[in-house]
Amino acid sequence: MARIVMKFGGTSVADLNRIHNVARHVKREVDAGHEVAVVVSAMSGKTNELVGWVENMPKVAGSNAPFYDAREYDAVVASGEQVTSGLLAIALQSMGINARSWQGWQLPVKTDNAHGAARILDIDGADIIRRMGEGQVAVVAGFQGLGPDNRVATLGRGGSDTSAVAIAAAVKADRCDIYTDVDGVYTTDPRIEPKARRLKKIAFEEMLEMASLGAKVLQVRSVELAMVHKVRTFVRSSFEDPDAPGMGDLMNPPGTLICDEEEIVEQEVVTGIAYAKDEAQISLRRLADRPGVSAAIFGPLAEAHINVDMIVQNISEDGSKTDMTFTVPSGDVNKALKVLSDNKEKIGYDVAQSESGLVKVSVIGIGMRSHAGVAASAFRALAEKGINIKAITTSEIKISILIDGPYAELAVRTLHSAYGLDKS
Ligand code: ADP
Ligand code: ASP
Ligand code: MG
Repeated sequence: MARIVMKFGGTSVADLNRIHNVARHVKREVDAGHEVAVVVSAMSGKTNELVGWVENMPKVAGSNAPFYDAREYDAVVASGEQVTSGLLAIALQSMGINARSWQGWQLPVKTDNAHGAARILDIDGADIIRRMGEGQVAVVAGFQGLGPDNRVATLGRGGSDTSAVAIAAAVKADRCDIYTDVDGVYTTDPRIEPKARRLKKIAFEEMLEMASLGAKVLQVRSVELAMVHKVRTFVRSSFEDPDAPGMGDLMNPPGTLICDEEEIVEQEVVTGIAYAKDEAQISLRRLADRPGVSAAIFGPLAEAHINVDMIVQNISEDGSKTDMTFTVPSGDVNKALKVLSDNKEKIGYDVAQSESGLVKVSVIGIGMRSHAGVAASAFRALAEKGINIKAITTSEIKISILIDGPYAELAVRTLHSAYGLDKS
């Protein structure tokens, strides 16, 4: 007997037939004698619709501020998961399974106060464990918890993955299965590159980079939690026949295992390619080249919760003036320009220029640590396709390249083939 947490994403619970199919996956594990807890997302498209309602509430005439209260945003957007948790419990009960739905506040999944992007602080697993022992399947609404203000708090987009891994850690599950609409983690987004290959295993560090650089198959925070708490996490498909051979395999279920790098026998130099759309670039021209300038720029941006990513500072020609370029999410560019203009005198620059609609393409692989020339291959491959590079950043295990938006798909496919990822 094992203890398994099963998470089903939005497309897996998109309608009643799919919820019925999900219930069959759960029944398979219950019938095999395992203790099971389930985490569900909202039906696909539902969270977008709810967010849209919040954002599009008509404003008072003359106001163009996109104001809404984060606590009420959470009250609205958390509702999608409430519906699917109840529906799945009903589907399971109709199959004779003792199931019960739980909202984040009922367990409770305790979070911090950052409404809209809250972090899980604590989950007491004892109650779920006790119920599992009594043969009950807990169907938990993902994406939500209870803040210190006693109000529902959501975990940021894609947060049900994090709910699942956190619950798996809290109940000391043997496995956490993330069921989605693809049958594992691929070398790149299979929707962009049909030649992408499914990985049997991927190291935590690589998955962390893939997720934070745009591969939305897992929320970044879920990978961090899996790594810290050593949760054996698989990404697998809910669209396969629940009773097909091998689906109930305890040690090696079909899908991709996220694991320690030591578990990966044949480590490739490059494991995958990720991309993130909607990046914007801001350049400050003729900036005073003196100590404290960077702090004067990035301090106020950080205080305004603007996430600055790539930073490039030019060498100044005469030792007194320089240019500084950095990227922010496109959605934050106006806010960032406002912060910069409010601090213009303190920073001391001539003009601020911006460009939106850029894309960051990243090459990821632990093998890069011990191989030279990986970046050069990327630059050569992109040059051959006439793709201009606007900025570059690197770390030990990744290279990120900023390019113009329309080249995103071509760049992903070009890099994917440049590192031989489309060959098995
Ligand atoms: P869910 O609703 O189940 O949480 P998501 O849409 O959040 O599913 O994540 C699954 C999607 O992630 C896939 O449909 C795929 O398009 C995308 N994706 C991006 N990069 C990758 C990758 N490297 N491997 C697999 N899927 C990826
Ligand atoms: N429903 C939420 C979202 O769409 C959470 C999730 O699906 O993981 O972001
Ligand atoms: Mg998701």
